[in-house]
Parts: sequence; C-alpha cells; structure tokens
Amino acid sequence: LSTWINVPQGPPLIMNEAILGITEAFKADKFEKKINLGVGAYRDDAGKPYVLPSVREAEKKIIDEKLNKEYAGITGVPEFPPLAAKLAYGPNQDVLDRVAISQTISGTGALRLGAAFLQRWYSGDKKIFIPNPSWANHKAVFSDAGLKVETYRYYNKETIGLDFEGLVADLKAAPLGSVFLFHACAHNPTGVDPTPEQWKEISKVVKEQNHFAFFDMAYQGFASGDTDRDAFAVRYFVEQGHDIALCQSFAKNMGLYGERVGAFSLTTADAAEKKKVDSQLKILIRPLYSNPPIHGARIASEVLSNPKLYKQWLGEVKEMADRIITMRALLKENLEKLGSKHDWSHITSQIGMFAYTGLNAEEMEKLAKEYSVYATKDGRISVAGITTANVGRLAEAIFKVKG
Ligand code: PMP
Repeated sequence: LSTWINVPQGPPLIMNEAILGITEAFKADKFEKKINLGVGAYRDDAGKPYVLPSVREAEKKIIDEKLNKEYAGITGVPEFPPLAAKLAYGPNQDVLDRVAISQTISGTGALRLGAAFLQRWYSGDKKIFIPNPSWANHKAVFSDAGLKVETYRYYNKETIGLDFEGLVADLKAAPLGSVFLFHACAHNPTGVDPTPEQWKEISKVVKEQNHFAFFDMAYQGFASGDTDRDAFAVRYFVEQGHDIALCQSFAKNMGLYGERVGAFSLTTADAAEKKKVDSQLKILIRPLYSNPPIHGARIASEVLSNPKLYKQWLGEVKEMADRIITMRALLKENLEKLGSKHDWSHITSQIGMFAYTGLNAEEMEKLAKEYSVYATKDGRISVAGITTANVGRLAEAIFKVKG
C-alpha cells in the first residue's frame, strides 16, 4: 500500500485555476487577434512582460560588484527594511524609529508572517475581517496561519462601486478590538478604493471601536502613479495614532514578481517596544524559512537608495500607472463611441491593474467563446492586458455582448 493512499485530490485553487484555465483556453484559440485579460502582471503596450530600466540598471550594478552569496540576516538584507519603511511611511523619522520591520518573501510572505504574529500575539480575537470580495489568497493565508476569517461588506454590485455604508456598518457591528484587513490602494479584484474622505471616516470608526488595521499594500505607486498618494491611507492611520500592521510587495511597482521582495512591519509605541516586537518577528521567521532571498532585495535597495535610480524609478512607476489609466479611458471612450447606453464611468473611476466590468459569468463566457476575449468569470479584467492595438476590438466585443 502506498504511504499516501489516504491523500485525496484537492479542489482546484480558486483564482489560480481560473487563471490557468484562461491561459489554456487562450493558448488553444487559433484566432490571431485573441485577447488575454486574465494576467496578473503588468504588460507594456506591445503586450509584453516589462522589466523596468531602473531595475535593470540596479541589477547590473549589483552583479558588477561581485558580491558574495552569504545568507542575509533573519530580517533580510540589512539595508532593505529601513528603505522599504521609508517608502511606505514617508520620511517621518519619529515614526520610522518605532517601526518594527522585516524583509519578507514578497507580499504573500508578509501576509503570512503578519498572520503568524497576530495568531501568537494579538490580545483580542484571533480573527480577521477581510473585504468581500478580496484577493483570493487572503482567506487561505490567514486560515492556514490559524486565524478565523470573516468578511465585511465592500463592493456594491448595483453601483459597481464601494458599499461605504455597509463597510462602516460592519466596522461598527464587529466585536470591539477586531482586526480588519484593508487594501491600502488599488483594491484587488474590484479596483474600487475609498476616497481620502472615506478613509478618514474609516479611521475614525476603527478608533472608536478599538479595532486594529492590517494593511495590505501590494500596489504602492501602481495605482495613481504617485507612491506618496497611494500611501495616503497608511500614513493617515499612523498620523491619527493607530498602531497598524503593513504588508508591502515590490512585485508590481518594481516588476520584481519572481524575485519575491516584500516587507512586513508593525508600528509600535517606542524604541523599547519595537525591540521586543523585532525579537518576536525573528523568532517566528527563523523556523519558517531562516532568512529571505538576497538578490531582489539588493536590487530594490539600490533603486531606493541611489538618488538617480530612485528618481528614474518614480518616473517608470508613473509610466506604468499612466498606461493603465489611459487604457481605461480608451476603453470607456470606445464603448461610448459605439453607442453603448450603459454607464461605463466605473471603468475610469476604478484604479490599479484590475477593472470590474460589471459583466456577469454568462457574458464573460460569451466574450471568450464568440470574441476570443479571455478573463475571469467574475467580470474582472486585467487592464494591463489592454493595448492601443486591441482596445478597439475589445470595446466592440463588450458592446456586442452587453449592448
Ligand atoms: N495582496 C494583493 C491584494 C495582491 O493582489 C497580491 C498579488 N497579486 C499580493 C498581495 C501578493 O503578491 P506577491 O506575493 O507576489 O507580492
């Protein structure tokens, strides 16, 4: 008898499988003008993966230095965490001095470390509220780390926008001292973010309820094109005296996807508390993976610390964000030109890589079968997959399906 005879076939991984399914169907489609809007990574206007020139240059410098391949420390390449913290929290030294931070295995690793920290040290309920909907991996990350996961209202199907009243009501209804996960910017999958005014109200209610804000910031700079603007919610909460948790990913804003560069941080009361929290982060990391990979973090550190490369990088992030913003505008414009009677303003009011079109599963299937346009059945399209060459045909396809 085999040792693993009792292992059943697992269910498909929700989003992964959906995306793989799309990729397969896309590959099998012989139509030359087929369009793949399932991808979760940036594409340039020629539809190709993009390595940022600032990142290329930083990488070349690092390779030329012929550094050794010794281990990083438990919390990473030493220069990286303070640079990541400064990017997220801003240049406020007062705050930076009391941020406990570690390099992590990209954003997912940051979430997982944060989940483990909550599970071990959060004094309230070992439970986290995530938005409905949320990135498909959130639920799995937190429940595998031993936390209960519940959802709060976020998306309003009718308006294809934020269900702000529902969100606030759920904040108020949750037990005092609950943990809430917020997407800092460019909410995935909806592209719907609270406005600054709404963030202020959320901060106020979170404080009244003594809740704890856990931010996932996977798209800093990628949403608006401005890294400061995209960090508004995080910095506002800190300014208002909240203690927060923060997950950072450099997958999208530096295009370092496979290099797995990220950070997890907690704001603490003071330097003494920071020291204690740091020690417990290390105690959690050591048995998980000992220490993180070095190459990508060295690249990110070079980009963040070299004034010339930093400036260049800010420009390149803005270019990526602007291309996406332009594609949103073009899609909407083309739909209107075709005479669509629907209100497509959500396409341009949403932000980041993904757009929720408002198309239902049936309509998405029709898009794929009849027009060779592939995306997930929830109606989410990756705007990164739209180009000046395919936006016209995409608009026509959506118009024919939806009217
Ligand atoms: N959070 C959100 C909301 C995301 O969309 C992603 C990536 N798609 C991540 C976290 C983490 O990605 P990574 O582990 O590649 O940094």
